[in-house]
Amino acid sequence: MTASDLRLGIDLGCSRMIGAIVDSHHRVHAERRHDVPIGDYAATVAAIAEMVRTLEADVGIEGLPVGVATPGRLNATRHLMCGSHADWLNNRPLPRDLGATLERGVRTAHKAGCLARAEQLEGAAEGARRVFAAVLGTGVSGALMIDGHLVGGANGFAGAWGHNSLPWPSAAEVRAAPSCGCGLAGCIETWLSGPGMSNDHVRRGGHTLTVPDIVARAEAGERLAGITLRDWLARSARALATVINLTQPEVIVVGGGLSRIRWLYSEVPKIWGRHCVADDPQTTLVAAAHGDASIARGAALLWPARAE
Ligand SMILES: [Zn+2]
Repeated sequence: MTASDLRLGIDLGCSRMIGAIVDSHHRVHAERRHDVPIGDYAATVAAIAEMVRTLEADVGIEGLPVGVATPGRLNATRHLMCGSHADWLNNRPLPRDLGATLERGVRTAHKAGCLARAEQLEGAAEGARRVFAAVLGTGVSGALMIDGHLVGGANGFAGAWGHNSLPWPSAAEVRAAPSCGCGLAGCIETWLSGPGMSNDHVRRGGHTLTVPDIVARAEAGERLAGITLRDWLARSARALATVINLTQPEVIVVGGGLSRIRWLYSEVPKIWGRHCVADDPQTTLVAAAHGDASIARGAALLWPARAE
């Protein structure tokens, strides 16, 4: 290991952040998790900087290249954050402020893009020519990677499926369409995110529960939780079918907290076929190989390894 071999990545979530230091062979040398100071921008910048310094102390090397995966994206012309579910980041120059605090250049990219980088390079989508990375967490986002390159497109938002409308909604889903932070209603994010599933459970008369609790109750045979999980899977299948129809990925790799729902991988491909244009879609649906550290690893890859 040499100092020039190492890169540092942070996955900034809406409530938790994960940091990792990786080398040019993708080995992890340090990993940390910490709460995010929800609602406080200055404290969030300070917490990221603190995590960077703690990770660097773990390996005994300072001044590493830092990449940060963010909820939301950086506006290409104004260089301000936008579209973040962590709304205290919006309209803030996060890369500039982090760079000033850490006294070095800091690269940022959207979480889904970082997931795609990590998993296509040496993960669950390794070597696949056409990859869609879906993040299912507090928010829902996506990124499209073709031949190892992330596709931004004319407006920079290719793959941003979370604020499309839930496709093929039932009459009940149209009536219940939840309001979305983007100003519309019935967006995919309002149904498939963690808060989306929890709210759906409450709407049908259940208690306020976390996603792991809903899934555990469903697996234990509790009827209402079973319906909530079944409907979430069916909606996931419909939403991903539109991704398949539009982008024809070989692999859809899922990250974020809800990627731990194992039923996603066994059940959704059984359902999505009826909504896909292709008779027998060959797209595979897989969980991120690196679990909840995958996005942080992808953030580190925002910098080239100087030893490569
Ligand atoms: Zn929306």
